[in-house]
Amino acid sequence: MFIDTNKISEKGLIVSNSFSLDEDMLIEENAFFLDDLKYYVLFNRDGDRIQAKGNIKTVISLRCVKCLDDFELNIDLNFDIILFPVNLVNSESNSISLDEMEYIFYDDNRVDLIKILLEQVNLFIPYDPICKSDCKGICPNCGTNLNHAKCKCENSSKELNFLFNKIKR
Ligand SMILES: [Zn+2]
Ligand SMILES: [Zn+2]
Repeated sequence: MFIDTNKISEKGLIVSNSFSLDEDMLIEENAFFLDDLKYYVLFNRDGDRIQAKGNIKTVISLRCVKCLDDFELNIDLNFDIILFPVNLVNSESNSISLDEMEYIFYDDNRVDLIKILLEQVNLFIPYDPICKSDCKGICPNCGTNLNHAKCKCENSSKELNFLFNKIKR
């Protein structure tokens, strides 16, 4: 879905809608959309620079790195980014300091809205997703998911911790 940048007037342009996305559009492995992506974006123009401020709501499924269970993550994120035209970035008289804000490029007077929204969702996903802060993980000995059940190795892992703490001292 593309936004024609010529339609962004001095007063700005608001776009708001929702759409469904393919499951494989997230970078994170084993991550997929469980709901439509709902968005609200306000575009403002400052010469060739376009500011995009908005909000994204959706639900995704992630796999916990500790217990390997899938869990739901509710996403309700705000973003504020600047879009630059590709030709301005490539020109030698480069007036942009790229570290001033987050930036994304657009080309041929069109902004790829889905690409922008997906990038924001991908940035939002934690590097090591964990289902809950007190996730007990998997027993390294027998593979039992310790969130759901206890295993007989529990004592031995305590012993290991005890030994480990001793070594640290
Ligand atoms: Zn977990
Ligand atoms: Zn075990």
